[in-house]
Amino acid sequence: MADWKTGITEAYKADKSELKVNLGVGAYRDDKGKPYVLPSVRAAEERILMKGHDKEYAGITGVPSFTKAAIELAYGKSSPVLDRIAATQSISGTGALRIGGAFFERFYPNAKTVYLPTPSWANHAAIMKDSGLGVKSYRYYSKETIGLDIDGLLEDIGNAPKSSIFLLHACAHNPTGVDPTPEQWRAISEAVKNGGHFPFFDMAYQGFASGDTDRDAYALRYFIEQGHPVALAQSFAKNMGLYGERVGTFSLLAGSVEEKKRLDSQIKILVRPLYSNPPINGARIASEILNDPTLNKQWLGEVKGMADRIISMRAALKTNLGQIGSKRDWNHITSQIGMFAYTGLGPEQVDRLAKEFSVYGTKDGRISVAGITSDNVKYLAQSIHKVTA
Ligand code: PMP
Repeated sequence: MADWKTGITEAYKADKSELKVNLGVGAYRDDKGKPYVLPSVRAAEERILMKGHDKEYAGITGVPSFTKAAIELAYGKSSPVLDRIAATQSISGTGALRIGGAFFERFYPNAKTVYLPTPSWANHAAIMKDSGLGVKSYRYYSKETIGLDIDGLLEDIGNAPKSSIFLLHACAHNPTGVDPTPEQWRAISEAVKNGGHFPFFDMAYQGFASGDTDRDAYALRYFIEQGHPVALAQSFAKNMGLYGERVGTFSLLAGSVEEKKRLDSQIKILVRPLYSNPPINGARIASEILNDPTLNKQWLGEVKGMADRIISMRAALKTNLGQIGSKRDWNHITSQIGMFAYTGLGPEQVDRLAKEFSVYGTKDGRISVAGITSDNVKYLAQSIHKVTA
C-alpha cells in the first residue's frame, strides 16, 4: 500500500497533463488544491511568539494545559468521567496508537490480541504488531453494498475470545468513509460489552468529519455512558491542520480515581524509554486554540469550513456524474463521511483513470475528496463516467 501510494505521487508529479488530478493526498487541500494553514493556527503562533516561552523540556506526559483541553474536547466539557481519565500527550495519532499498543502489551492482563476492521488504515496492523500484540480482523465493509457489513461485524465481535481488544474508528472511517449509524453503534456497544472486550477508539478526525466536534464524538461518549472502559487515540493533524507538528493524546478511562493514578504511572513507565517527553510547539498551538474562547470559536468555524468543503465536493461529484448521464448508483459518495471515499471502482478502472485521464487514486478505489476542487470536479466526473460506463 505504502509503495503504491509513493508510486502514485511520483506518477502524478511526472505527468505533464494540465488536467491531472491527485486523489491520493492524505491531507486537506483548499479549493485551489493548495495546503491550508488554519488562520486560528497562525493567530495562536503569533500569540505564542509574543509570550516568549523558553524551550525547556515538557514533563513525560507533555503540556498539561493541552492534554486537559484535548480530553475535554473528546469526552465533553461536562463529562462526569473527566477525573478518571489518565492522559498523555503523544506524537500525533500514530504515537497515541503506539502507546496504546504498548500499554495493552505490558499491562493488560487478558487476551493480547487486537481486532482491526477490514479494511483499516494501513498503519494500524503494523503499529499493533510492533507493539507486540496479536492482530486479527473483524468484518466491516461490504463490497456488495458499498456500505457497512453490520451483521458480519456483530458476528465477529461475538465470536472473538472474551476480553479481546477492539480497535474502532470513532468517526470518518479510513479508508472507506463508511461509519455506523447511531443505532448500529448501540448494537456494537452491546456486542462489545457481551464479550467483555476492551474498545480502543482511534479518533483522527474529530470535527473534520461532520463539522461538529460533539457529533463526531458520539460513539466514544455513548460507549462511556454504557459503562465501558475505553482507550482513546486522538490526533490534531486533520482537525487543526497540524500534520507535521505531531500533536495528539493517548488516554484511558479508569474505573476509579485511584485506578487513574496507577494508569498515570504506567503510562509514564512506557513513555519515558520511548522518547522521554514529547515536542512542545504543536501542543502549545493546540492549547492556545482550545483554551482561548475567541480562538476556539474561530477554530470551530474553520473546522466546519473544511468539513463543509469536503461534503460539498462529494455532492458536486455525484451531481456531475448524474448530469453527464451515469446510470450507476453513486449515493455512497454522499452517504460516506470524512476525507476519503470508497468509490467502488475496481483496480482496472483505477488504472485506466491514471493512464488515460491522469486521475490518480489508490487501487482499492479510494479517493481523497480533499483532492477535488470546483475546477476539477467536472473533469473528474467525466473521467469516472468513461471508465464505468
Ligand atoms: N488513524 C487514522 C484512521 C488515520 O487516518 C490517521 C492519519 N492518516 C492516523 C490515525 C494518524 O495520523 P497522525 O499520526 O498524523 O495523527
